[in-house]
Amino acid sequence: MAQTNKKDVRGDVFDGFRTAFKSFATEAIHVGQEPEQWNSMAVVPPISLSTTFKQDSPGKHAGFEYSRSGNPTRNCLEKAVSALDGAKYSFALASGLAATVTITHLLKSGDGIVCMDDVYGGTNRYFQKIACDFGLEISFADCTKPELLKAALKPNTKMVWIETPTNPTMKVVDIKACSELVHLHSKDIVVVVDNTFMSAYFQRPLALGADICMYSATKYMNGHSDVVMGLVSVNREDLNERLKFLQNALGGVPSPFDCYLVNRGLKTLHLRMERHFKNAMAAAKFLEADPRVERVIFPGLPSHPQYEVVRKQCTGCPGMITFYIKGKLEHANTFLSNLKMFCVAESLGGYESLAEHPAIMTHASVPEKERTVLGISDTLIRLSVGLEDESDVIEDLNQALNAAHPQKI
Ligand SMILES: *Cc1c(COP(=O)(O)O)cnc(C)c1O
Repeated sequence: MAQTNKKDVRGDVFDGFRTAFKSFATEAIHVGQEPEQWNSMAVVPPISLSTTFKQDSPGKHAGFEYSRSGNPTRNCLEKAVSALDGAKYSFALASGLAATVTITHLLKSGDGIVCMDDVYGGTNRYFQKIACDFGLEISFADCTKPELLKAALKPNTKMVWIETPTNPTMKVVDIKACSELVHLHSKDIVVVVDNTFMSAYFQRPLALGADICMYSATKYMNGHSDVVMGLVSVNREDLNERLKFLQNALGGVPSPFDCYLVNRGLKTLHLRMERHFKNAMAAAKFLEADPRVERVIFPGLPSHPQYEVVRKQCTGCPGMITFYIKGKLEHANTFLSNLKMFCVAESLGGYESLAEHPAIMTHASVPEKERTVLGISDTLIRLSVGLEDESDVIEDLNQALNAAHPQKI
């Protein structure tokens, strides 16, 4: 059973959530960063640009041969990520999607994937438009109801792909319940969790029974909106061997400079996530109390449908808020056009606050009928609340609501 807090040293917003993972900050700062690994004793890992490494005699080398198969800067990052995921092994890939593609290559033609019905658009597109043509069979299930996931498992199912919370409707999946159910059905099914929204600081899928934890590190893990990268963590030896092979054989590796930046970003992950949560909680409460807002979906609010699962499985919530503004498309448009501090842009998880209109922007490629089923209407707005001052976040939302609804409701 998960340990949850009555009173959390991190502040009131954390009360009732799982306690923070032990020594998270210390490990983020020190694991994989040992100065003794460099002749120079550099405290900060150097950016190792060399593509090749000298061998004493043919086949006798100091651990590195060629930079696609292994790179010193990437190594530091991968060790740090392992520590933060409570994992034995981690892999850095060139993007979140490169991570998805690499993981999917664990399968072979004829195998089936059961995918959460509401996943990142690029994941959906890869499965339906590319993986399908290579002989993989894709089906979708609403994993918030474990019985629907169970019904979707077939004899050829080899992978279950979960994302929690989902984007933009913030559906939350009970990772432990789903992993147990799937593994009881068959030990040969690999359970993958896309942990992008929660980050390693708020959720550890491997400890909850998943086989693979993956990220678009482009978002919170890097947190500075200046790197596109993917990360994968596992504990199983067989998956480690296979993914290590695939990372090199498929070749979707990130640059040493990007590895340096993400490694640096991880040093402040705990501080950033705590501030994201505090700011987002304040913004979510403000929006929920406002008569110009129809409905707020934020996993940290008691009004969230899976609030109890969130508190049992997460140590907090990120800065992602989805809300429905009252009125029509024009009200959503006016709101977004009048934001001053929030930047209207795609992506999420950076230090700067962003706002977007999923139906027009990130989810435009989802057919209108599917959007309706998923609840992605014209009045739905997605916020990625950044690390600015809480009062400025609220003030900006308030003045943009004033612009959208000049008359009192
Ligand atoms: C952005 C995102 C991805 C894709 O990652 P890239 O780094 O953009 O390739 C996958 N899953 C989720 C939940 C995302 O938000």
